[in-house]
Amino acid sequence: MKIFDTLSAKMTDFIPLKENEVKMYVCGVTVYDECHLGHARAAICFDVIRKYLEFKGNKVTMIVNFTDVDDKIINRAKLEKVDALEISRRYIDKYFVDMDALKIERATVYPKATEHIDHIIKFIEALIERGFAYVVDGEVYFEVSKFAEYGKLSKRNFEDMLAGARIAVDERLKNPHDFCLWKAAKPGEISWKSPWAEGRPGWHIECSAMSGHYLGDTFDIHGGGLDLIFPHHENEIAQSEAKTGKTFAKYWLHNGLVNINSEKMSKSLGNFFTISALLEKFSPFVIRYFILSNHYRSPINFTVEKIQELEKALGSLTRFMKRMKQFASGVPAAGREGVKSEILAEADAFEAKFNEFMENDFNTAGAIGSMFQCFSVFNQAFAGEFPEKAKSAAYVYGVFMRYAELLAIADEDFIMAENVQQGANVDGLADELIKVLIKVRSTLKGEKNYKMADFVRDEIKAAGVVLEDTKEGTKFHIERK
Ligand SMILES: [Zn+2]
Ligand SMILES: [Zn+2]
Repeated sequence: MKIFDTLSAKMTDFIPLKENEVKMYVCGVTVYDECHLGHARAAICFDVIRKYLEFKGNKVTMIVNFTDVDDKIINRAKLEKVDALEISRRYIDKYFVDMDALKIERATVYPKATEHIDHIIKFIEALIERGFAYVVDGEVYFEVSKFAEYGKLSKRNFEDMLAGARIAVDERLKNPHDFCLWKAAKPGEISWKSPWAEGRPGWHIECSAMSGHYLGDTFDIHGGGLDLIFPHHENEIAQSEAKTGKTFAKYWLHNGLVNINSEKMSKSLGNFFTISALLEKFSPFVIRYFILSNHYRSPINFTVEKIQELEKALGSLTRFMKRMKQFASGVPAAGREGVKSEILAEADAFEAKFNEFMENDFNTAGAIGSMFQCFSVFNQAFAGEFPEKAKSAAYVYGVFMRYAELLAIADEDFIMAENVQQGANVDGLADELIKVLIKVRSTLKGEKNYKMADFVRDEIKAAGVVLEDTKEGTKFHIERK
């Protein structure tokens, strides 16, 4: 299997430290607000990476942290006049509601920074002892110039940057890039006792401390969003490798970011989708399908039109699977025996292609593409009658289900549900019927029979279809319930 490793900046053979075991750490969220589409993307990408590694027979240990003490959390707590930990608890609860809804398999452990303060303090003490960190006014800073390989992940050359730098510098620091390991608390802020001032850990140190605690000095995969490469992951490497003298993570994987209508998603731009807002409009399977139809490293451009288009595509796939299930009724086991040989060959070719894509840096976009290609071949193959139809359908259903579940883009309930993904709208039938009713209503209005015209409009509305009279005629949209 090949994966793209950010540190070596190339496609690399993936060989775990221990055969059939993969230890991975993925940076989680700072819990001061609701999770948005960007968080959903990172979670879905690493969920599929984890599922595929398990599918291949690996035992996967996956650690995802919560940053539950941080300036943003403290600011929000001040604003709401509540305890900082009340804010973080609230958004941790919400995180699990959102991620469970998105069918994210739970990580092995979700450690919280505040539950590892002792461990973090010991880590910082070790860095001071080894000469990589220094104390200023009760705070502790990492001295980047002491770590010769600083910049190796983000490919930044700090000497060049410093030569031309005219940045606002904290006079107390030895080097403007030195970063905080232990921060002194302001009066009234949440704090812990330490050998230095009462305070809290800096952001980067928690991930070094907690990954080491659960996975050891060296582990297989460290993951996170592209935006974490610098400074967060660069600093994690510096901290951990300075302390242990060993390689920190063997492979670094980074997922691309999400743009909304070609702009960077941001609250201030107002183009911001929380996971719960998206789930009101779309099935979690559709959201996953949207995310996974892009390579995990590529940027994604989210538009409502695009996800609606994909909703239709996924609907055609699930309707096909439902038909397979129905054709297969009464077939006891879905074995290869009795399956039409052409269909068996096509299914085998599909499986080989799907896995080939996944083996090539988890190319879910290609894998899904191969699924749709195969589906269109089968769609024709099953149009007619043939003696092996029931057994063939059972086999095809089994194969498609295996990969749909691997990506979690469908499950049996979703497939078998009535009217799933506009399932009743066969070949646009519902649209045509609505247009007929619109004509009936406008005819009634022409005859000045307003009572009946309004009756038609209200009945359609009760069924979930809203009519709008515009200059270009009557338009409609379907209002989901
Ligand atoms: Zn982290
Ligand atoms: Zn710990």
